[in-house]
Amino acid sequence: MASQYPNLTAELDLGFTRLKNRMMMGSMHTGLEEAPNGHARQAAFYRERAKGDIALIVTGGISPNAAGKLGLGKHEKTFVESAEEHRVITQAVHDEGGKILVQLLHAGRYSHHPDLVAPSPIQSPINKFAPRELSDDEIRQTIADFAEAAKLAREVGYDGVEIMGSEGYLLAQFLATRTNHRTDDWGGSWENRKRLAVEITKAVCEEVGEDWIVMFRLSVLDLVEGGLTGEQSIDLARDLVAAGANMLNSGVGWHEARIPTIMHTVPHGAFAWASKRVADAVDVPVVTTNRLNSPENAEAVIAQGSADVVSMARPLLADPLFAAKAIAEKPDEINTCIACNQACLDHIFGGKLSSCLVNPLACIEYDVSITPAAAARKIAVVGSGPGGMAAAATLAERGHDVTLFEAEDRLGGQFNMAMAIPGKDDYGETIRYYAEMLRKHGATVHTSTRVDAANLQSAGFDSVIVSTGVNPRVPAIPGIDHSSVLSYVDVLWHKKPVGKRVAIIGAGGIGFDVAEFLSHAEHEGDEIEHFLTSWGIDQTIATPGGLSADGPAMSSPREITVCQRSSGRPGKSLGATTGWAIRAALQLKGVNFLGDLTYDLIDDEGLHLTVAGKTQVLNVDNVIVCAGQESENTLVAPLEQAGLDTHVIGGAKKAAELDAKSAIAEAVQLAMQL
Ligand code: NAP
Ligand code: SF4
Repeated sequence: MASQYPNLTAELDLGFTRLKNRMMMGSMHTGLEEAPNGHARQAAFYRERAKGDIALIVTGGISPNAAGKLGLGKHEKTFVESAEEHRVITQAVHDEGGKILVQLLHAGRYSHHPDLVAPSPIQSPINKFAPRELSDDEIRQTIADFAEAAKLAREVGYDGVEIMGSEGYLLAQFLATRTNHRTDDWGGSWENRKRLAVEITKAVCEEVGEDWIVMFRLSVLDLVEGGLTGEQSIDLARDLVAAGANMLNSGVGWHEARIPTIMHTVPHGAFAWASKRVADAVDVPVVTTNRLNSPENAEAVIAQGSADVVSMARPLLADPLFAAKAIAEKPDEINTCIACNQACLDHIFGGKLSSCLVNPLACIEYDVSITPAAAARKIAVVGSGPGGMAAAATLAERGHDVTLFEAEDRLGGQFNMAMAIPGKDDYGETIRYYAEMLRKHGATVHTSTRVDAANLQSAGFDSVIVSTGVNPRVPAIPGIDHSSVLSYVDVLWHKKPVGKRVAIIGAGGIGFDVAEFLSHAEHEGDEIEHFLTSWGIDQTIATPGGLSADGPAMSSPREITVCQRSSGRPGKSLGATTGWAIRAALQLKGVNFLGDLTYDLIDDEGLHLTVAGKTQVLNVDNVIVCAGQESENTLVAPLEQAGLDTHVIGGAKKAAELDAKSAIAEAVQLAMQL
């Protein structure tokens, strides 16, 4: 029978070697690179992905020399220093029938160490360190360092290298007038600016021969002023192929770009068209990337000719078996990456080991795996939010006799509200995944069923997990029961009508979500087209960096004011790698933020406030309360009094700073112990 994903699962013949399908794990720094026993731990991490049938893996970036290090502390090594230690990684991947490339990345002015270098001494807006200019001799030595690293990579068993030439790292810095102000052979004209990328590719290919993968990751869309035009990207692609590169990967956006490229607000496959421009111009396989997280959308971009291979990094954190499940045509069993960045990029940004919100076992494969329970027990899980579902599914997978009770008519708890937010519809995929796991592992599920301690005791459960979540906090503001007041649950779950003028009480994650929901303008036509126009992206890439002259264009159907009592930046609890873009989009849509205030009264006039000692009234149709939550834990005491073995997780245990990441992690951890 024909495959459901014929393009995605087809072999790719590179002449000297074959890829068994068109799915690649893109480069992603996980923090294992610098961790104690890091190479063995990376080996375990990549082994799982290779076992999951991914055709090709690219490691996290590693510098060929000291100057190009990312600046990740004293344990960061160059590839040349650590090559021998990589044998355990290549061996693990080969044992499972996979292929792996090491990514050679020189960070240039993005290095977070004081001895950083760049084409010109121009500081990056996202780095506290200023670079010094590389001399001609140092540039030539850098070329030699890349070639030496590639030679060593081949010796220690890698199937190739990826040369990192996008995202604003050193090679991209040489290419762009934004960062290259040199007047010698390495700057000025386009011919001079592209020289370093081409010379490195040539030197690497001469060192390793033609029967080895040399992939260059080039920027198909810079999204910064002074970046490349589309014509320049294509010209570079042709030169790289002439220099010997036998695969090209796509990069989108520099790290300092002020346009989101991978978070939830970016539609699936939003940048595949930019890869297609390059794919149409060269005769080597081209890889596309960014926000491709399902076999369906991956298949679609290949089918439409945008690329030959699809690169996914975060989706492989979320589910190491992604490719195997796609090949087996079991997409419902895929644990889908929801593009939240909360446990992967936000962790890395905060100097922590990467994990995954929907898969807390990511990056701890060396230490932990799900094993059958020593003795099967009869366990009730009460509440089917993300934590409850994760606990029940993991317990059932381990062989316990599990019953999940949910008072509402559907599974998923707060994720049902999250999935209503524009761009967050993938949160519904998490509910689908866990529902499928519950089915697969034989758990019993009762929705529309409210249970009490007596029910659970008489049913003879050995243990009860209470994951009953939270109730929205009702702040003690005079007039809080006024007819204009709605809670976020009224808006997101019950879909109650909301007027044109709105005040939101609370500027946390949910206050921002509600602002996003209410400021979303309905639009005709294609989601990708709308996203690109909204952010001012020029699809002809005739302008440097692909930024349109008109800039972003966004509007809101409502007048919205988001309020908080505290001073400081609104939305400070939002993730470091997503908060800036959520804030920027709301500001572009004209949403107002008010802080350092007290709430005085809600009445027919609206919301009465005191801001910096002065009273004012926000004349609004509705006041939406997003003032945090309180634990729903009324079941706990009766269960304990009845002598039942009781475990409380997630929001039911601690509502403050409750989030799905800790709820799922806590749930899985508990389920592995019972
Ligand atoms: P939250 O982040 O704790 O924010 C609650 C907001 O309510 C704060 O802005 C607080 O600001 C205000 N508040 C607290 N008590 C109040 C009171 N008595 N009266 C008036 N205002 C009060 O809670 P949340 O927004 O409900 O989010 C819940 C969890 O979900 C958080 O952990 C959040 O990180 C997570 N989440 C994250 C995202 C995301 O995009 N990353 C999205 C949704 C939810 P003031 O005290 O300054 O007034
Ligand atoms: Fe995807 Fe979120 Fe997991 Fe990162 S933490 S891999 S963005 S689901």
